[in-house]
Amino acid sequence: MLTDPFDREHLWHPYSALGHAPPALKVARADGVLLELADGTRLIDGMASWWCAIHGYNHPQLNQAAIEQLGRMAHVMFGGLTHEPAIALGKQLLAMVPQPLDAVFYADSGSVSVEVALKMAIQYQAARGRPRRHDIATTRSGYHGDTWNAMSVCDPVTGMHGLFGAALPSRRFVPAPATPFDGAWDPAEIAPLERLFADHGDELAAFIIEPVVQGAGGMRFYHPQYLRELARLCRAHDVLLICDEIATGFGRSGRLFACEHAGIAPDILCIGKALTGGYMTLAATITRRDIADTIASGEAGVFMHGPTFMANPLACAVALASTRLLLAQDWQGNVQRIEQALREWLAPARALPRVADVRVLGAIGVIELTAPLRLERIQQRMLEQGIWIRPFGRLVYVMPPYVIDDAQLRQLCDGMLALVEGLQDEDMRA
Ligand SMILES: *Cc1c(COP(=O)(O)O)cnc(C)c1O
Repeated sequence: MLTDPFDREHLWHPYSALGHAPPALKVARADGVLLELADGTRLIDGMASWWCAIHGYNHPQLNQAAIEQLGRMAHVMFGGLTHEPAIALGKQLLAMVPQPLDAVFYADSGSVSVEVALKMAIQYQAARGRPRRHDIATTRSGYHGDTWNAMSVCDPVTGMHGLFGAALPSRRFVPAPATPFDGAWDPAEIAPLERLFADHGDELAAFIIEPVVQGAGGMRFYHPQYLRELARLCRAHDVLLICDEIATGFGRSGRLFACEHAGIAPDILCIGKALTGGYMTLAATITRRDIADTIASGEAGVFMHGPTFMANPLACAVALASTRLLLAQDWQGNVQRIEQALREWLAPARALPRVADVRVLGAIGVIELTAPLRLERIQQRMLEQGIWIRPFGRLVYVMPPYVIDDAQLRQLCDGMLALVEGLQDEDMRA
């Protein structure tokens, strides 16, 4: 059976109405770029399980790393104990992330790593004798996760958290970066940022932003100069810059980390998603030693966070194998290959009715429609095309595993085009 009645009635799925959502497709196994459904149907995966599975599924080297670690220990607490997977992964990450980041806090999901980053910023400012600096600023169209404080810095509208309203702490928002990635930079764009810092700079603990690629808040690619200007303002006003690279990290945008497009290093970096190659949940918040030292000098004397599954050895061992695997190959050339293919093969969508924009950056391809899709109307057509995509709102987008070959990429793009070309009024929301 392709769907399951128990699942439909009793298991919640992400952002779904229990018992009312279109039934979820049952996956029996996955290998490379292919998802195999319970009835044997094979789909080319365009989603990499939400940015994660960069090396594809069932990868022999990642499997091996998990099995070897399992034979030693699946987990031990990180309070007072340490282990080789955490140490080796820490060394590996610090060699990859922008300098001079050199202090790692392992978290158990992307949202938690954002919570940790925000807490670091507050403790840092308090330790410097500035308890008034407890505001957080961000841009519109951002997405930073689903926990309470992460929600508060998501776009209030596209972030889907508007209904929590006054229950959420209120944050300072500036308009979303407007100039596209390869557009002509307009210095006037920085005016709202300058006003924010001039009026409220001394109330801000941190500014949080997704560098260059705004993901779930709108799949927008903005000009790196925005990030350089923001970094300059943060430095001038002693506000910590938090870069959320949970989606963009590990090569997705064409650079190892998207902030490299701007040549800047954040004060605090959040990574997650592709960290374990999509095998299990692990994230990290990485900052500088001097920030860690300042936090240690504060009233509490310690950083106040410690998840039960912090630095889970199994997840760290697979993350180490995944990052080594990435760096051992010409990942950049490969992402460029995918970028070229997406540019060429998605371009015909521009001529289709109901298409507002087509954009590509790194291994991310987006067709933006003129109105939101009814997801339940296209599931069957997706199956007919032999592809797995998960459009949301007006966005039909892909970020496939890097191991996708040209023929699979072609089928993925052609499938997206056919799907968009076949849209009727009744497939769209008003
Ligand atoms: C997915 C995502 C998060 C949240 O990560 P979870 O692991 O789902 O908690 C935060 N920020 C960005 C940019 C993301 O894409």
